[in-house]
Amino acid sequence: SESITVGELAKRMGVKATDLIRVLMKMGMMVTINHPLDVDTATLVANDFGYEIENVALDVDEILEAVPDAPESLVKRPPVVTIMGHVDHGKTSLLDAIREANVIAGEAGGITQHIGAYDVELNGRKITFLDTPGHEAFTAMRARGAKVTDIVILVVAADDGVMPQTREAVNHSKAAGVPIIVAINKIDKPEAKPERVKQELMELGLVSEEWGGETIFVEVSAKKRINLPELLEMVLLQADVMDLRANPDKEARGTIVEAKLDRGRGPVATVLVQEGTLKNGDFFVAGVHYGRVRAMQNDRAEKVQSAGPSMPVEVIGFTGVPDAGDVFIGMNDEKRAKEIASHRQQKLRETELAKHSKMSLEQLYDKI
Ligand code: GDP
Ligand code: MG
Repeated sequence: SESITVGELAKRMGVKATDLIRVLMKMGMMVTINHPLDVDTATLVANDFGYEIENVALDVDEILEAVPDAPESLVKRPPVVTIMGHVDHGKTSLLDAIREANVIAGEAGGITQHIGAYDVELNGRKITFLDTPGHEAFTAMRARGAKVTDIVILVVAADDGVMPQTREAVNHSKAAGVPIIVAINKIDKPEAKPERVKQELMELGLVSEEWGGETIFVEVSAKKRINLPELLEMVLLQADVMDLRANPDKEARGTIVEAKLDRGRGPVATVLVQEGTLKNGDFFVAGVHYGRVRAMQNDRAEKVQSAGPSMPVEVIGFTGVPDAGDVFIGMNDEKRAKEIASHRQQKLRETELAKHSKMSLEQLYDKI
């Protein structure tokens, strides 16, 4: 909705609703407390009460909070997976192996491009992988409040065992409340000791099912392509347990996974759609930028007309480069998208200005 009720506006301004209704009456509007006001009217009356337009814009922004969906509108969606683990334990190899196996099975040519995420198919079901490597992307996104990962695949090399970044990954996943599936990698190596890995992980609270625990362990080899379909099956099993659902029949909401300034195409960003459906021509806001979807493509460089829940798409049409972790909100109202973006830009400028003046104050004290 693009409105605020009389009651809400009165509350936000700290005035009595009856006073607001009186002002509106003078303007020729006979309204009750639940009557919705459009942005222009709200701006006008707010001015009357000595408020600036930006306050109203802020109200508009607050309305962007996600509205809960009716249970019957929710349909199954693919899981979104992040691979974590210690350096050199095979994260990149595993991501590549899963993707390549799928591309070769999928289509001739198999041209792929790095867009920060990709999706694979197993028995007609999809899984989305975020391939932004390392824990930094995961923590950076969490720090910005973005929850994008449903399941973590923790890669542990069978010849090396639990290492500092393994522990870190376990801690991050637990803190985020994301379930872990353990992939014991490099089982092709003669010096592989998968039992030792299970033992070490038990000490971190990850107990395998065969030992009476609840954590799924799969022994794989990214290099020799051993047990990769089994790993994907376990991901789907875990997804079923979680009963992941979203409403595809509304304006899109998602998260920026990656963004850059492309020489030929301008600002380009990968959006992981999490709710609703993003369509060509949709307006949107992402962080302090707005835009309109001019073109979308997947990681196979195929043109896409629309993208539903859990689908990663590279989007062209931003007015600036957003940040990874920014919330992306599709909307059919260009004016509103612009308004929100410019309001956010103004707020950003104010914060930066405040930071700047604080810094110079400190510098001043330093000099004294
Ligand atoms: P990352 O740092 O976790 O991304 O690890 P990489 O994927 O870059 O792998 C580190 C090294 O381990 C590379 O030399 C890989 O070829 C090797 N490697 C990865 N997976 C396997 C595997 O399943 N078996 C063996 N023998 N080597 C592997
Ligand atoms: Mg790597």
